[in-house]
Amino acid sequence: MNYRHAFHAGNFADVLKHVVLALVIEHLKLKPTPFRVIDTHAGVGVYDLSADEAARTGEWRDGIDRLVGADAAPLPEDVRHLLAPYLDAIARLNGGAQGPLYPGSPRLALELMRPGDRLIANELHPLDRAQLEVEMRGDRRAKVLGLDGWQALRAVLPPRERRGVILVDPPFEEPGEFERLAQGLAAAVDRFATGVYLLWYPIKDAAAVGAFKRRLAMAGHAKMLAVELRVGERADRLEAAGLIVMNPPFRLEGEVRAVLPFLAERLATGPGAAATVTWLSSGQ
Ligand code: SAM
Repeated sequence: MNYRHAFHAGNFADVLKHVVLALVIEHLKLKPTPFRVIDTHAGVGVYDLSADEAARTGEWRDGIDRLVGADAAPLPEDVRHLLAPYLDAIARLNGGAQGPLYPGSPRLALELMRPGDRLIANELHPLDRAQLEVEMRGDRRAKVLGLDGWQALRAVLPPRERRGVILVDPPFEEPGEFERLAQGLAAAVDRFATGVYLLWYPIKDAAAVGAFKRRLAMAGHAKMLAVELRVGERADRLEAAGLIVMNPPFRLEGEVRAVLPFLAERLATGPGAAATVTWLSSGQ
């Protein structure tokens, strides 16, 4: 396990994942009944973008910094409200100022959750888990686990609330991660078919991504939306990523269709930047 998210926090792929996660949580809040957020590969919770790791790659400069950093143009009116849950959570974490702290998925979830909602944050790396425990300490809504993410997924489903969002965000450092993602989803859906699932994937190998999406489409799952963001076409670094959203809340499709083209334009590092939103299966 060499992957450490501190080197990548706040990059364009985090922006995509966290914008969509925030929108999903806002949808879940439309009903008064509590829900659960399950984060199978949670990371450390909060990242300091002024620290060495972030400085070494500078990836956040092409992500959150392009979006709302000191040199960024004001956000257009038609997307501001869609980015507000995500950006307001970042501002709260930084005491309202533009700050060096960036929320990972478990911290972002807690920022948006209500007192009765619950979070399970699972992280296998011992050092990252220790940091995550410190970060979550004192918040009774959060429980930290240290299992393998795929085991955690089976162990915690279905959630008592029978409502919730499950983020599966593996590091893709080992071969076979697309297969594990597809198998993990199938096992999870057997236990909890009505959850909203968010599966993150890198787009480096178009054939592998195509095979993954075909496999999901043939599995007979309910509605699945593939939301993909490309910021450029360089081959020497990750420039495209996607999220499968299974059981997207009503209206999420329209929201991502409105906000993704803006993200592609704002975060573009070169030619080829684009956003795509496609149904893998409409569940009909
Ligand atoms: N979800 C986080 C966020 O959005 O802020 C980022 C997670 S990062 C992409 C992937 C995390 O998975 C890393 O922190 C890594 O240590 C952890 N990890 C690696 N292998 C794992 C496994 N088998 N089970 C659980 N976590 C694992």
